[in-house]
Amino acid sequence: MTEINEFWQNYIDGEWVDGGAGRIAVTNPATGEVLAEHALADATDIDHAVQAARQVHLSGELRDLHPVDRSRILRAMGRHLLDHADEIAPVLTLEQGKPLWESRVEVHGAARYFEYFANQAEAVEGRSIPLGGRYFDFTVHEPHGVSAQIIPWNFPLELAARSLAPALAMGNACVVKSAELTPLSSAWLGRAAEAAGLPTGALNILCGYGREAGAALAGHPDVNQIVFTGSVPTGVSVAKAAALNIVPCVLELGGKSAAIVHEDADLDAFVDDVRWGIFLNAGQVCSAMSRVIVHESCHDELVDRIAEMAESLSVGPGIDRAEFGANMGAMVGELQRDRVELMVTEAISDGANLATGGRRPKDHIGAFYQPTMLTEVTQEMKIARTEIFGPVLSVLGFRDDDEAIEIANATQYGLVGGVFTSDLDRATAAAKRLRAGQVFVNEWYAGGVETPFGGWGKSGYGREKGREALLNYVQTKNIAIRRR
Ligand code: ADP
Repeated sequence: MTEINEFWQNYIDGEWVDGGAGRIAVTNPATGEVLAEHALADATDIDHAVQAARQVHLSGELRDLHPVDRSRILRAMGRHLLDHADEIAPVLTLEQGKPLWESRVEVHGAARYFEYFANQAEAVEGRSIPLGGRYFDFTVHEPHGVSAQIIPWNFPLELAARSLAPALAMGNACVVKSAELTPLSSAWLGRAAEAAGLPTGALNILCGYGREAGAALAGHPDVNQIVFTGSVPTGVSVAKAAALNIVPCVLELGGKSAAIVHEDADLDAFVDDVRWGIFLNAGQVCSAMSRVIVHESCHDELVDRIAEMAESLSVGPGIDRAEFGANMGAMVGELQRDRVELMVTEAISDGANLATGGRRPKDHIGAFYQPTMLTEVTQEMKIARTEIFGPVLSVLGFRDDDEAIEIANATQYGLVGGVFTSDLDRATAAAKRLRAGQVFVNEWYAGGVETPFGGWGKSGYGREKGREALLNYVQTKNIAIRRR
């Protein structure tokens, strides 16, 4: 059994400190037992953190570094995470529920953001604009100042790294509000900053309730830029707070993403895509493949194969699932599991067919839910239109290509989409017509930290990952010089 500290603190201005709102108990979703307590920030703690970040910004300690020095710090932060992967991964699994091997993958993913954006720190350059003989004109990119980052509970370490690394690379000082369900693993980001020599106060990490600490951060008048990943209603609150202070905001809000499967697709390979697409992290992934839209000619065969794969996954405590394999851990908590369970029950009463799963496994008491597939889902059902954020796949049928695209585009979201076919024309036509920020052809989740990610419609706005992400963290200043 992994031993973990009983009490974890917030990290403000280089100090590990208690919270003004007391403590919050962090629960292991696989057992329902309390794992540890974490300091709980109030609005005053948030203000201290923002002021610390602001001072670092004003002092120029981070902003004025040679980009290669910021790059080296980021690299060292990524290295620190890798060096401590064996300590971080069990804590992440115990607080979040995912299999231990998935937590290791997450630590590597977080480190990869630091590596990638360390490489980009030196690559952002302005341009010179010709204005005729009397002028010398050029642009420079400057950091916004204080970047506020509100993090969800599904990939607590990786998603914090996703915004932190490019923000720091561009010279912003950061205040991170971790999710109240999963605050523990983010401590290593603070430790990484200390080990790497990041200027004190350039990274602050606080756990607090969303409606208190989160809202205080989003609405703080000295915050200059906001990144939020989470639900649509909370995204609306954050966007309103950003609007009131006229600060830019990046929103990543989830989806109901669809894979279109044609009769000429490689079904063996596709079933493997479904395994990752909807059962990784028990389906608690914004870009999960929560809908499969399959041609009627191969519908029954595909459904049988997916059911077989889903039933082969062993569901149980993530901490016992150290090896990469056919398994799934707990969901993040009972509330989330109950919400998913209710949506499945409603879908069945709306006429969907439960093809597999749909129950809590008998042999575990925690927040577990079986890998589940619903068939005979139609576009009108709530389950076809609402994000589920759990291990539940909805299967819909189609007869021709136009109908497939119409169904895929029929939700208010637009995060990712996929098309599975051996016909290049069909794939390219679908890639153009799918209303989504990212299109996967013949491999769900193809891409990485290098490829821009973000949504259309209610999936949000702004792009994270890739070089596009850097633009979230800089302002362009034009400097025009007149020769006298
Ligand atoms: P969930 O309901 O699944 O926890 P949220 O979108 O509410 O998803 O949470 C994502 C993150 O947003 C968490 O860190 C949470 O604390 C934070 N949060 C929740 N409400 C607010 C709010 N009103 N303002 C700012 N942040 C919030």
